[in-house]
Amino acid sequence: MRLRHLPGVDTVLAWPEIAPLVMEYGHDTVVTAIRKVISAERDAIRAQPGYVTDQSYIAAQIVIAVAALNAPTLVPVINATGIIIHTNLGRAPLSDAATSAVAGVGQDYATLEYDSATGQRGSRSVHAAGLLRQLTGAESATVVNNNAAAVLLMLTALCRGREVIISRGQLVEIGGGFRVPDVMAQSGAQLVEVGTTNRTHLRDYEQAISADTAAIMVAHHSNFRIVGFTAEPSLAELAHLAHRHDILLLYDQGSGALLDSAEYGLEREPLVQSGIAAGCDIVAFSGDKLLGGPQAGILCGREALIETIKRHPLARAVRPDKLCLAALQATLESYARGRVVDEIPVWRMISISAEALAATVQTWCDELKANGVNAEPQAGSSVVGGGSLPGQSLPTTLVALPAYSAERLAALLRKRGIIGRIVADTVVLDPRTVLSTQIDPLLATVIDIIQNEFT
Ligand SMILES: *Cc1c(COP(=O)(O)O)cnc(C)c1O
Repeated sequence: MRLRHLPGVDTVLAWPEIAPLVMEYGHDTVVTAIRKVISAERDAIRAQPGYVTDQSYIAAQIVIAVAALNAPTLVPVINATGIIIHTNLGRAPLSDAATSAVAGVGQDYATLEYDSATGQRGSRSVHAAGLLRQLTGAESATVVNNNAAAVLLMLTALCRGREVIISRGQLVEIGGGFRVPDVMAQSGAQLVEVGTTNRTHLRDYEQAISADTAAIMVAHHSNFRIVGFTAEPSLAELAHLAHRHDILLLYDQGSGALLDSAEYGLEREPLVQSGIAAGCDIVAFSGDKLLGGPQAGILCGREALIETIKRHPLARAVRPDKLCLAALQATLESYARGRVVDEIPVWRMISISAEALAATVQTWCDELKANGVNAEPQAGSSVVGGGSLPGQSLPTTLVALPAYSAERLAALLRKRGIIGRIVADTVVLDPRTVLSTQIDPLLATVIDIIQNEFT
């Protein structure tokens, strides 16, 4: 086919290979795909003197192009990176109970803002609030979209137009564009910096308190460590100071840890309930980091303050939907029943023993080798991720695939929904973050790729 023989859009639409696509994908999508393919063909004919094309080739290209245009971009993947709270892969995978709860209220109508007892309008902020009170020891709680929104709302509702004191060691960037000083500016609170990067003392805070001060804020520097000559007053000392001066202590705890990470060979991540017990007036944290639930921002603390926060107009703009609340409620129920390590994937992954991982990798390698794949166990480390517990790792055993070009294999795996890591020019897969239902598809896909692409 030469340039002048290339068909027009209407001609192609009538081809027997293409006409059925219109029913399946819609007219506009098919036309977009046709234009794309014809334009690529035109370029190819111009660029390559001997280029030959025909109707069946063009039609096949259009079928591929239509499917690509319609392919969803948000799809499940297998996380074999060993990064447990992988922000780019959606942070915490949900528990079975949370997943069922989401499916249930998603398909049906739900009592989102409805009181079944009275038949009257209810409040969406009751969901999860009871469990949050019980688990954190706070008087009251409310849920918003994410923790960035929670911190913004807290500062806007409680401190707008007044001063908020914060240590220079905590003017941090959490990642994904969350910078404590920027969020403060956005809230309309006036930032008062005290202390130095590595050391801030109680007296630094005390000297900065004025008649305009609304609060002291503490931001957990989740994602980096300051080591060496450092000092920061405790939350209890700050609470005492704040309350003596009739101002608030606000704590951006971040991770939502309710369980002690120190019991699993990690350093101690500060706990939400310790913040409440230390006297913080409000503690803010994420739902999808160490809590192991859906994306959410949670504010726990004194009832009168939570009421002020809930009534602020910004609260409406950052409110959570029924899917989030259903997943959060189900996640918190696992905590209330004392079943976190069995039921919440993030904690199950943190708590798997090195021996269990080594045994898993041995069976994986045996199966891979039996199918002609060159796979070897290799010592490595997993990390918690999500900006929590920086610099700390959990010992693991990896499946190493040393015989294959790492870049090419990693790309083929990605195309099939498996995200691994490359270490020293070798693709490695960490079983710690692979869910049990994903093991068979993972091994089958690796075998398929090696057998078909590398022989
Ligand atoms: C993660 C984090 C945030 C941002 O929370 P998102 O839920 O991602 O919006 C804010 N502050 C701290 C201390 C954090 O760790």
